[in-house]
Amino acid sequence: MTVEMAAGAPGLSVVIPVYNEALNLPALFDALGPVLQGCTHACEIICVDDGSRDDSYEVLRRLCTLQPDLRVVKLSRNFGKEAALMAGLAEARGRQVLFMDADLQHPPAVIPDMLAAAQKGFDVVYGVRRDRRTDPLLRRFFSNRFYALFRSASSVKIPPDAGDFRLMSRRAAEALQALPEQTRFLKGLYTWIGFAQTALDYDVAPRFAGHSKWPVRKLFGYAWSGLVSFSEAPLRIWSGIGAVIAGGALLYAAWIVIITLIFGRDVPGYATLASSIFFLGGLQLLSIGILGEYLARIYTEDKRRPIYIVEERHGFDA
Ligand code: UDP
Ligand code: MG
Repeated sequence: MTVEMAAGAPGLSVVIPVYNEALNLPALFDALGPVLQGCTHACEIICVDDGSRDDSYEVLRRLCTLQPDLRVVKLSRNFGKEAALMAGLAEARGRQVLFMDADLQHPPAVIPDMLAAAQKGFDVVYGVRRDRRTDPLLRRFFSNRFYALFRSASSVKIPPDAGDFRLMSRRAAEALQALPEQTRFLKGLYTWIGFAQTALDYDVAPRFAGHSKWPVRKLFGYAWSGLVSFSEAPLRIWSGIGAVIAGGALLYAAWIVIITLIFGRDVPGYATLASSIFFLGGLQLLSIGILGEYLARIYTEDKRRPIYIVEERHGFDA
């Protein structure tokens, strides 16, 4: 790979979050090497070790001595992929920044196409998975539902099946970095920053080694957190629901008055009363819960803790 760091900023910074990927790293570098060598400008690779518990960090340090264009940032614990990406972004000095996974699911062979697409004047070239057939059926179903729900609830229209595999111009990367929030739903923020963006289809490869760190429970949490970060609909919906229930209750009360006064019929009320108390009680708890979700978010943001903490850096000049 070309080493022109001293001559100025590299053309491309490749940012790779790494969490327990020791088995993938050698294969990743083997695949990435020739692609980056083919680049017309100098490249740097920034790997962020997100508190791995295997020997990913040792592997990275070893690779660091062999590859002068590799820089390694070690976070003090596992902060999550989005924080790791931000840590890498903070160190990236390239005129363009590329985000990619360490498990070879984002094929390096697509990078030249991304660079070519950016040449046409796009600030952001995001990879879109050509098909999700490799995903389990249930995951695909919920993922589709999520995108549909997000589209209807938020003014930020995120493209379905676009992930973190993307190439950004310096100004787009800086816009992303400058956002002050601590809870970062990157999928939404990528779109929110604007600029000219274009999609590039790619075939997602199966994970090379190891297993995904996104069990279903975590995915649900992620989806919910994204929705709450980008939409006030869950908060506002309760005024509508309240109005409908109050209206219905009023009509029902009128109906009871009519059948009692006009038809003189006794109103057997126990079942109605019990079920409506339970129903309304449940609704109230639900709405308070949603209120709590937003409150918790305000609380987290207000603490202003850093998104990540760097423990060590390798391969950096200063
Ligand atoms: N990752 C990370 N921190 C985490 C979880 C994942 O840095 O807490 C990295 C991981 O090493 C990989 C990328 O994020 O490079 C994508 O993770 P994974 O393959 O588990 O996600 P999936 O492809 O299943 O969405
Ligand atoms: Mg993966």
